[in-house]
Amino acid sequence: MSKIPASSAYAYPLLIKQLLHASMLTSPQQEIVSGDLCRYNYLTFNDRIKKLAAGLSAVGVKPGDTVAVMNWDCHRYLECFFAVPMMGAILHTVNIRLSPEQLLYTINHAEDDVILVHSDFVDMLEQVQDRIKRPVKLVFLHDQDQIQTLPDRFDIEYESLLDLSGSDFEFRDFDESTIATTFYTTGTTGDPKGVYYSHRQLVLHTMGLVAALSPIDVHIRLGKADVYMPMTPMFHVHGWGIPYAATMLGLKQVYPSRYEPSKLVRLISDEKVTFSHCVPTIMHMLLSAPEVMETDLSGLKVIIGGSALPQGLSQLCVEKGIQVFTAYGMSETCPFVTVSDTMGIDHQSIEDIDLAARAKTGKPGALVDLRVVDENMNDIARGGDETGEVVIRTPWLTQGYAGSTEGSEALWRGGYLHTGDVGYIDETGSLLITDRMKDVIKSGGEWLSSLELENIVSQIEGVSEVAAVGIPDERWGERPLIVAARNTESEIEATVEDIRNAISAHVDSGALPKWAIPERVEFVDAIDKTSVGKLDKKVLRVRYA
Ligand code: AMP
Repeated sequence: MSKIPASSAYAYPLLIKQLLHASMLTSPQQEIVSGDLCRYNYLTFNDRIKKLAAGLSAVGVKPGDTVAVMNWDCHRYLECFFAVPMMGAILHTVNIRLSPEQLLYTINHAEDDVILVHSDFVDMLEQVQDRIKRPVKLVFLHDQDQIQTLPDRFDIEYESLLDLSGSDFEFRDFDESTIATTFYTTGTTGDPKGVYYSHRQLVLHTMGLVAALSPIDVHIRLGKADVYMPMTPMFHVHGWGIPYAATMLGLKQVYPSRYEPSKLVRLISDEKVTFSHCVPTIMHMLLSAPEVMETDLSGLKVIIGGSALPQGLSQLCVEKGIQVFTAYGMSETCPFVTVSDTMGIDHQSIEDIDLAARAKTGKPGALVDLRVVDENMNDIARGGDETGEVVIRTPWLTQGYAGSTEGSEALWRGGYLHTGDVGYIDETGSLLITDRMKDVIKSGGEWLSSLELENIVSQIEGVSEVAAVGIPDERWGERPLIVAARNTESEIEATVEDIRNAISAHVDSGALPKWAIPERVEFVDAIDKTSVGKLDKKVLRVRYA
């Protein structure tokens, strides 16, 4: 090849702002609906993104600063998804279901400079506000037409912020490796862990997601004609990245604010929603809403992720005409990794073979290098006779845990991101997750640390040993089960109530989320152990499931 000439060609950086070009050209009048709050088109959306950036800039936000959001899913959250990173700042999507102590930890750890707080979360923030280490500006979000006074210590209200400096903000180019978002996962023991994503990663993730959901020779799962509504909170791994994809495609989008099953059903029906995604628990809740009986849900396509799709739930969905399929990912993976292959399956069928196909963890998307390996990073043979850990490489994985060299090294040992999930690849190339290495309990979409529960129960007089495991639950995915051995030496006989009360005290103090209180407590003579003397939680899970 002859020498490449010097050129004034535009070196297109993969920035979040670039996701807006196509939809602004092709779908300027397309609607974005925010529950019962408001509806506007993409032109107004674009205008408000600029006004938000201008307002944040006017209150002092600079590139590299961190802007946190505590909000329900609404148009304002979507505006933040774009405006904050587009101005070079970092969007911290706060998990509003954390305990107050965990909330404080994440605010301090992320070094938030501004926090946008919906009125429903002001009380929660107030509990910890005095212990926020850095000065923060507080922006108030509310759903009333007008407010008379700002809550104590708040600086400005969101709509007034937008009106501060007009809509001619210019989003400049910068390095595509600039960090765009951060949030915290409480998947393992100890403090929440911060993951982070760059502009380049989010743009490539959006492209990868759309490529995986829209192949035209298969069943099109996300197309131009779809109407999108999330049922996974936007704080959970960027609402699985789908708000970015839906905006890039210029789809009609519907944001439901607080998730109430009746409202979700009404919005699906009134706004003609055709595409959504959620964890199994939310789908159970939706199908239990009385309004479902008289609502036609046929044509609705829903990705189930965050946990395996139980076949019983898949069957319930099919009976309502909903097309369900599975996707897999995690907080550390942006999140998209795999999606179940629905080619050739009959969407009306409740035959076992079709239910099983939908529930497979799925096939890797474009650019996803997925392996199942043993502890020496050797590939496990396909087929399912053996299982191993799922490890991955894609361009959109968190490069580590914020501020934790040790955690980052462990996550990326051997040059692949370790998911901690166990599974195998079947003959068709589909991944099936069979278990997870971590023993954390996932109840109602929230992680509970088993060690933390054990620590609390172990301090109760009359208890000698304790194990906390998650047992499958139709409604909540999992519920914690406490298995305890009594201390025969003790004069005090520990009771089920003692255990519940001890955990409740930690819930009351804000150290644990309310899902931690177990319904089931089993007293045994001795707890099963592995060959090296550890609690054998695998056996316990099987026994008590
Ligand atoms: P989170 O970081 O909260 O999103 O949780 C990620 C974890 O959820 C993964 O490591 C898996 O253990 C689990 N998970 C996510 N999607 C699936 C799926 N389709 N099937 C089984 N487990 C899943």
